[in-house]
Amino acid sequence: MKCPNCGREIPEKKVKAEIRVCSVCKEAIGCIYCRTQGNYAYKFCTLHDPRGAYTDSTLFNPKKKEIDEVAAKESSEETEIKKLIKLLEKECRDYDYYDHTYNEDEEKDYGKLKIINYPIAERLIKIGKPSVPHLLKFIRDKRRKKKSGILSTAAYILWEIKDESIIPSLFDILRSRDEISIIAGDALMGYKEIAIPFIEKIMNENKEEYLNAAYVLTGIKSDKSVELLIRGIEYNLEHSEWRKCGILFLYLTRYSANFKDKRAFNYADNIHKRLNKWTVMIQRYPEWTNHLPPKKETFYHLLGIRKDDADRFPVEDDVRDFLRDKYQSINKTPEVNFAYTFLRKPDVRGDYDWMLLNNRIMQGIVNFFMTMDEQEIKRTKWINKSALFRYFAENH
Ligand SMILES: [Zn+2]
Ligand SMILES: [Zn+2]
Repeated sequence: MKCPNCGREIPEKKVKAEIRVCSVCKEAIGCIYCRTQGNYAYKFCTLHDPRGAYTDSTLFNPKKKEIDEVAAKESSEETEIKKLIKLLEKECRDYDYYDHTYNEDEEKDYGKLKIINYPIAERLIKIGKPSVPHLLKFIRDKRRKKKSGILSTAAYILWEIKDESIIPSLFDILRSRDEISIIAGDALMGYKEIAIPFIEKIMNENKEEYLNAAYVLTGIKSDKSVELLIRGIEYNLEHSEWRKCGILFLYLTRYSANFKDKRAFNYADNIHKRLNKWTVMIQRYPEWTNHLPPKKETFYHLLGIRKDDADRFPVEDDVRDFLRDKYQSINKTPEVNFAYTFLRKPDVRGDYDWMLLNNRIMQGIVNFFMTMDEQEIKRTKWINKSALFRYFAENH
């Protein structure tokens, strides 16, 4: 008989000695030539793995037999691919149906599904380019009811095949903006740096699909990815695009978590620290809000000066004298008194100056976080905000 794992021909009289079977279901799982004694793969199929079914892709997957049969039986590659995609659909449907642990609030874990589908994916990856148009057609086909499980497997296969000629098609799907766009994004990550110029172009055009394109960068390890994400954050800060800015901040954090990248971490951490400081400040000085940007009239205005006038003095005492002289020379309305109480104390003035610089930006980002919906958070691959903040706390 043939070893179901490596395909080696084992003579009938040696089958008992050389073919390995699962200790539980007694199905053939390999032979002594392709399995090593002492491993789980030597004694169990993946279904009967004592550590849990479908947790280890190196164990024999009983579905492999079914897939090999399809390969042997189908007359053309074309029909084989179609059959394989049908099987893939069925597996994913069953998985979604039987998986009762699925909690709507949490990101679904497709790790197991990936192992279940491994033999199908492996076969399609082996067929390679001829299966690409079928997979793309499948992803695009709006008539079918699709769950993200099958789409993520399809993305994984397209990622592995790495057929550069489909990059534009994947970007077309990415531009489509519905839920499948993210699948194209996942597949594009497999193309690594080759995909970056396409992403950069979309980001420069600043179109609707800007964030979809930026998402792909979270999975491509490259200095260019970090650079584009940071440039995006700064551009959007300048243009008060808080939503884009906040999501890019999450993407940059995701990137730093994915690749342990120092530059990405430091940049994102700096924003995170400023957010924390801003929260403390706003609680400490709630009465300041009417005198901080975007409001026009600052405490300096109330005293009839510009902030730069005070900043000219290198010594703190001189600043204080300057402010006092100014204060004494003008009409002391309650507002003026109010402004002077804060500015006259150097450390409080320091806090106020910091707020002048950061209030508009931090308020924008915090508002974005408060109004951000769950769907959006899921898309950035952060399960929730506390996970995000824990990340910064733990990485110091
Ligand atoms: Zn078994
Ligand atoms: Zn074998």
